[in-house]
Amino acid sequence: MTDRKRTKLYLHLKKWLEKAAIDYDMIQEGDKVLVGVSGGFDSLALLDLLNTSMIFLPSFSIMAVNIDPGFDETHGDYDTLKNYFEGNGYDYVMEKTDIGIRTHSDWAKKNPCFLCSRLRRKRIVEIAEKHGCNKIVFAHHKDDIIETLLLNIFYAREISTMMPNQSLFNGKFHIIRPFAYIREDLIKKYAKEKNFPVIENRCPTAKVSKRKYIKDILDELEKDNKNVRENIFRSMSHVKLDYLLTSGYKKSNAHEYEQDEPFRFVEKG
Ligand code: SF4
Repeated sequence: MTDRKRTKLYLHLKKWLEKAAIDYDMIQEGDKVLVGVSGGFDSLALLDLLNTSMIFLPSFSIMAVNIDPGFDETHGDYDTLKNYFEGNGYDYVMEKTDIGIRTHSDWAKKNPCFLCSRLRRKRIVEIAEKHGCNKIVFAHHKDDIIETLLLNIFYAREISTMMPNQSLFNGKFHIIRPFAYIREDLIKKYAKEKNFPVIENRCPTAKVSKRKYIKDILDELEKDNKNVRENIFRSMSHVKLDYLLTSGYKKSNAHEYEQDEPFRFVEKG
């Protein structure tokens, strides 16, 4: 791991990354951490920051993984990322797949993000197992956590979001999200500062997904009150169960409101 130029932004991100890691007990001595890198600004920033000396965290090793969804027929993106990994001395696994095409076929295109994230995550867990990695790190940030809460309320009929530290298979693996306290705009700023070779998201769903819709609603609300996102985030730590419905919604009365089966949003769409 190497030290970087200590800009104010770098120090800020490091402080909040380590704080989230400590608060949620994300890293233990000797962990082998597999970092999901799509090539977006957030995952490149995460990989870069995890590859620096930590002040409060024990030592761990990292490996990058990229699951190419197959939208870029020229494979230029794949080569860009490969060169970046090699140029910076990262251990990495890259895999070309047709997940993007399959999840946009007629039978799946109603909700491609659900299947896409499932398939990619399944493959990443298999790769973690093969390479002896016990932690899988995603670059989901504070904005993702806020949006996911609203997505799950609006479309999945439940109050839940992405967990900063989530156990899989009885603790065999953990999915961790060290950007849980960090806003998207700061990560974007850091990616610009570091001039990362950010890869464009070529997925046709990315610009019309429900997540994008929620993001636009939040932007609109923040024109009136710039604290809306922060308020939603903090509300997740102030849950007053006594002021929620506990007796349950009676299924027998539900038929007139029932639409399609709900699904949970966990991964980013
Ligand atoms: S927006 Fe993201 S999660 Fe959804 S289908 Fe496209 S690549 Fe997959």
